[in-house]
Amino acid sequence: MIWKSLGHSDLLVGGKPVLIRSLLLCTELGDFHRYRVCSEAGKPAWARLAKDGSGKIGALVTGPYSEMLKIPSRKEMQPHLFVPLNSLSKRVQKKLLIPLNYELYEEENTLVAREIADEPYYLASRTSYVFHYPGCKRAHKVIPGNRVYFKTRNEALENGYCPHKICNP
Ligand SMILES: [Zn+2]
Repeated sequence: MIWKSLGHSDLLVGGKPVLIRSLLLCTELGDFHRYRVCSEAGKPAWARLAKDGSGKIGALVTGPYSEMLKIPSRKEMQPHLFVPLNSLSKRVQKKLLIPLNYELYEEENTLVAREIADEPYYLASRTSYVFHYPGCKRAHKVIPGNRVYFKTRNEALENGYCPHKICNP
C-alpha cells in the first residue's frame, strides 16, 4: 500500500476513509466505553489506516476534510485521534484492511496490525482475469498455482486484468 505523510505528526496514512459513528475508548477509570463521535457540524467521522513511527498500524479518526472531531459526551474537540483497530467495529476493521497485506497482534488489550510487505502489490487469478487488493477475501481463495502479482494498478490493467468489483483496487 502507498502511505502518505500526515504533515503535522509522525503518522503515515493510507487507504480510503470509512465513515464511523462510534468508538470504543478507555475511560478515566480504565474500562472501555463506546462513545459517539462526529464532526463539529454533526456529520459522521472518518477512519483511515495510519502507521506510527514504530510501524504499528491502527486507525486515524478525523472529521471529514478539515473539520474538528467531536466526542459529545466527553465534551472533547480535537483535530484527530490515533486509535487501535479494536476501537472500531469488526465491519469497519475489515473494510479498512482490504488494501493491506498484514498480520494482526494484540498488545495490552489493543489490537494492532503490522504490514507483512511494504511494497505495494496486487494479486490476480490467471483463470478469472480479475485483480484484487492483497487483503481481499477472494484474493486469499486464488489457488497458489494460479496467482499472478502486479506492482501497480496500471500494470494489472495493461495486462488485461479488471479490478474486482467488491474490493475495488
Ligand atoms: Zn477483491
